[in-house]
Amino acid sequence: MVKRATLAILGVLLCVLYGCTAAPSDSLLDGYESCRKQVFGNGIVFSASVRGGDTRAALQEMQTLFEEIEADMSLSKADSALSKFNALGAGEQPSNAYESERVRVSRHTYETVLRAMAFYEETQGAFNVAVYPLSRLWHIDTDGLNRYTFAPVHECPAPPAYEEVLQTIDACDIRRLHCEENDGAYYLYKTDPRLQIDLGAVAKGYAADECVRIAKAHGVRSAIIDVSGNISLLGEWYRPAQKAYTPWNIGVTAPRPARGLGGNVCALGVSADKTLVTSGDYERFYVTRSGGNELWVPHIVNGKTGLPLGVAYTGDQYVNTGDHIISATVICNDSAKADAYATAVCLLGKNEGAAFLRAHGMRGLLITADNVMCLVDVNEQSEEGEVYFTLKNEYAAYTRYTLETAR
Ligand code: ADP
Ligand code: MG
Repeated sequence: MVKRATLAILGVLLCVLYGCTAAPSDSLLDGYESCRKQVFGNGIVFSASVRGGDTRAALQEMQTLFEEIEADMSLSKADSALSKFNALGAGEQPSNAYESERVRVSRHTYETVLRAMAFYEETQGAFNVAVYPLSRLWHIDTDGLNRYTFAPVHECPAPPAYEEVLQTIDACDIRRLHCEENDGAYYLYKTDPRLQIDLGAVAKGYAADECVRIAKAHGVRSAIIDVSGNISLLGEWYRPAQKAYTPWNIGVTAPRPARGLGGNVCALGVSADKTLVTSGDYERFYVTRSGGNELWVPHIVNGKTGLPLGVAYTGDQYVNTGDHIISATVICNDSAKADAYATAVCLLGKNEGAAFLRAHGMRGLLITADNVMCLVDVNEQSEEGEVYFTLKNEYAAYTRYTLETAR
């Protein structure tokens, strides 16, 4: 949920506008009008820099969009439409006859849910917004992570009993989630009282796509939209010194930097009108113990096994697997899809994930816990191709990976 694929334009500080947080302007985005705002609570930052057209109206409309999305989709607000939906059926037992009442939602939520259902099918169930009961069981929902992300190991919750994990899988069947449109009004209902959803793995991408649409509608020529690591680019990057538009440079955050968070493993040169989204296990997680050993518990959970990313069950304890994906960056032109696929690819693993991206015509960069960096239709050279590495020599972290090229 926190910033991941940063603009390489790293350390960029944006200027204040219309209620955004104040920060001085940075020369890398000279000639752009910018805003920066905390959205969805919990440290999620939206920033946008736009150039050309009615920049002021575009930024204003983007901020209104976030307010609308948050009012409907936030799970930290008890009165949001999704919180009300999740509360339906609490304590009731599942039965074939169960059908909840309808909860009215905004068009944003309706469209996001429809897309999430399609992503479930496309990823063969890896992407599943109905894993929320498992997220809660493992304390990797927002509430759990807010409590434990920075807590010492002995204060973090013990992993749930495996029996309970298996029982909870059954409550995560997205096919029991239903959408309805009636005279221009949108509704959600469920046919399992245990069903609960969390749109956290796709909402930022949806919002980024909507921001690009807003920018275009206001005649903006060049924009960079960053919703906590979901980056969408409109047009190319204007460089005042050259008086020219050039490809963007986007940094990929180092998932295991030497000391604390921070730093990039490399930067990607990206042409116009692309989106880059990174998911991983390295910002939203806590460390607990299982069978006397430390266990890293990140916020992405597998709805089929019931286990968080990189966690396996040996029969008497949980362990971390050694070769799972710890950072997956997906590049394409649809940010909601990139967001969902980045989450799904983490669960698919390196080989299956790379094959999945290629089969869907997407580029990407996958990093595993055993220090492999797998390039999916991304070149290492800086001069060729639509997407390529730039500035890699400036990133010491880059050298510690064994490079693989997905074929
Ligand atoms: P981030 O929100 O950190 O950018 P993701 O896009 O990967 O990262 O979304 C992770 C969030 O998605 C989790 O916090 C949880 O709310 C939800 N989630 C966890 N596992 C899944 C899954 N298998 N499919 C869909 N959503 C998931
Ligand atoms: Mg995602």
